Amino acid sequence: MEATGGQQQRNCVSCGRAIAWDANVCPYCGRDYRLQMMAPQAQPMMSEGVKVVIYIISLLVWFVGIVIGAIYYTKPDAESKEFGKMCLILAVLGMLLWAFCIIMGAIL
Ligand SMILES: [Zn+2]
Repeated sequence: MEATGGQQQRNCVSCGRAIAWDANVCPYCGRDYRLQMMAPQAQPMMSEGVKVVIYIISLLVWFVGIVIGAIYYTKPDAESKEFGKMCLILAVLGMLLWAFCIIMGAIL
């Protein structure tokens, strides 16, 4: 399709280039206009599926959960903080479970 002339345009607030009026994402800098975020470097948070996988990893491999949880818990946005807290809680649970298995293994 080459007959796109005459389309209304606006300037990207992030990089200043002219983009299509109804563009969802700036083709030059990748700024996403579907998200009404004010932070200039706001990155989209991971999907729910990825979160669940990391929760399971945190529970099963607790030291990985503690590392991931600590990284996310120190991030400024609330969603990352909440995610980090959840990873840490699951990691502690996983650690208790792991310690319980070690103790039971030592007794039996
Ligand atoms: Zn842009």
